[in-house]
Amino acid sequence: SMPEPKTAWRLLKSAGVKYVRFVIVDIFGRPRVDILPIDEAKDAFIDGVLFDGSSIPAYGGVNRSDFVAMPDLDSVYIETWNGGKTALIFTSVMDGSRPSLRDPRNVLKSALETVKARGYKPLLGVELEFFLVKGDPPMYADGGVYFDGHLLHTWPVLEEIMEHFHLSGIGSTKTHHEVAPGQYEVNIPAGDPLEVADKVLAFKILAKSVAQRHGYTATFMPKPFWGINGSGAHVHLSLWRDGENLFASVKEPREELKYAVAGILQNAIANSVFVAPTVNSYKRLVPHHEAPTRIVWGLGNRSAMVRVPYYGGRINRLEYRHPDPSMNPYVAFASIVFSAYMGVEKRLEPPPPVDTVAYELEGVRETPRHLGDAVKYAQESALLPEEFVKPYLALKEEEWLSYLKSEGDWEKTWNKITR
Ligand code: GLU
Ligand code: MG
Ligand code: MG
Repeated sequence: SMPEPKTAWRLLKSAGVKYVRFVIVDIFGRPRVDILPIDEAKDAFIDGVLFDGSSIPAYGGVNRSDFVAMPDLDSVYIETWNGGKTALIFTSVMDGSRPSLRDPRNVLKSALETVKARGYKPLLGVELEFFLVKGDPPMYADGGVYFDGHLLHTWPVLEEIMEHFHLSGIGSTKTHHEVAPGQYEVNIPAGDPLEVADKVLAFKILAKSVAQRHGYTATFMPKPFWGINGSGAHVHLSLWRDGENLFASVKEPREELKYAVAGILQNAIANSVFVAPTVNSYKRLVPHHEAPTRIVWGLGNRSAMVRVPYYGGRINRLEYRHPDPSMNPYVAFASIVFSAYMGVEKRLEPPPPVDTVAYELEGVRETPRHLGDAVKYAQESALLPEEFVKPYLALKEEEWLSYLKSEGDWEKTWNKITR
């Protein structure tokens, strides 16, 4: 249950927090913050923060621009990487007296309410891959390999990231050097999807802050360097009912798991613009780099779009490998949870699992070739509220056209790589 506003404020004040950063999540999943000194922030805990909706895409024109964001006192992270001087508080944007469906947090909240009202509880975790880069133009910051065990000069950055991951309450994570040079991975622990999405944003802020202090940039761009692995954001999901994991079994996958897989695969093309939302996302979704191109599933198959982890034949979740870290996690999770739930409700049968390398398969559906196609295929999707999807797709179409009209390295401008 949510703490009382006054209690929450007092706790932060006595913890030594000097500034509160109220987070409004924009349509692209980018944090926008209003920064208030702790004493001035007191009223905002009760009344919310005021912002200019005409300066955040999709809210209002200059003629209807005054919006209020109410703090979600369940979602507070002390920024220990700032020496604990600042705290992040996530907010929910209001449209009059109801939560605005232009706010991606509210979109996810309403999706979760629907699914929970039918008796399902989703448990979701995400792996985040990212690069540490340096220089202009930016180059990967080390020459490490998968599970590199030598002392790399990027290691002190990871050590500090891990420390604050824990201290700030995001949770506990293991980490390893990924396949590509300069590439690492952390895992946001499984939990309620809204909490996990907030943690994704908090983690990006943390990673970027720590990296910057060491003279690097942490980038969550899906494919910063052509010819080597890109960065994925694999989503692990299970659905629970009456305290039981509907996906748990040994050796043979359960019916419910198969239905969920079918729901995810059936909606993969329409959901692509939500889980792989940038021009650059589609450069990652190419053969032979552990990212999916064929819309198939398999047990322990890392070339398939959905992999069911199968260590020793034990099954407890599915892994959807299509998403990348440029996603708006709220929207991505809403579309994923909905798709899995729909599969279960409708008892959709998936095609047989694939145990060969999927990149060579013929006669199966493939991921959209580029953002323009992804926008087009999403038009048929009716999973998420139109109030959100309409402006989202319009902005994504604009992004695609701006890329088509651009010259030079549009994606890797400093601005894009630092996202
Ligand atoms: N980096 C790969 C991707 O783009 C995933 C590697 C892995 O399986 O962890 O999805
Ligand atoms: Mg990985
Ligand atoms: Mg994975």
